Amino acid sequence: MTEIVVPAAEGRAVDVQAGKRIRIVTPRGHQAADFFAFRADDPGEWLSPMHTWVTSRAIRPRQGDTFLSRYRRPMLDFAVDKADGVHDMMLAACDPMRYELLGVKGHHRSCAENLDQAMQARGHRLPVTPQPVNFFTNTRVREDGGLQAIENTVKPGAYVELEAKADLICVVSSCPFDVNGNGWAINGDVGPTELIVEVR
Ligand SMILES: [Zn+2]
Repeated sequence: MTEIVVPAAEGRAVDVQAGKRIRIVTPRGHQAADFFAFRADDPGEWLSPMHTWVTSRAIRPRQGDTFLSRYRRPMLDFAVDKADGVHDMMLAACDPMRYELLGVKGHHRSCAENLDQAMQARGHRLPVTPQPVNFFTNTRVREDGGLQAIENTVKPGAYVELEAKADLICVVSSCPFDVNGNGWAINGDVGPTELIVEVR
């Protein structure tokens, strides 16, 4: 088994071969994990939530669902959910402009930069930031279509486990978001905190 600690507000890439499982743990709870996956033989083919939910018929990933690539090929099965279904597939990865628009002065770490750094370290330059799967992120769509990111209820030690359907490069980012506003809470008040990634 390979174990990687993703420090608070940082990102890491890990190889996951077909048939292996990746487990993502929030040891202290309440920490959003932005998740990206790319085919190892063609990083231009990445996991796409938009293509996934057309097939899974759900805007939130559920245990038993299969995550598809933007070419609609299976990437990973959602094998185990020990976070009570608190996940999101709608929010774009945070990036420098998001923090600038929120009034943050100076540089603020972001999931988009964490992804870029992790992939560039492997020699891959991405043309865009793919839509992530945001594990441990509590969003709700109201009846009128309104979107809320409400209190993060994910408990310490919660985890998800995904089984790779192809040889993949997976990237996990401990979301650095700490600008909780009215009705818009991504991590808990204690965050950001570290994540543990295991490949088994
Ligand atoms: Zn983020």
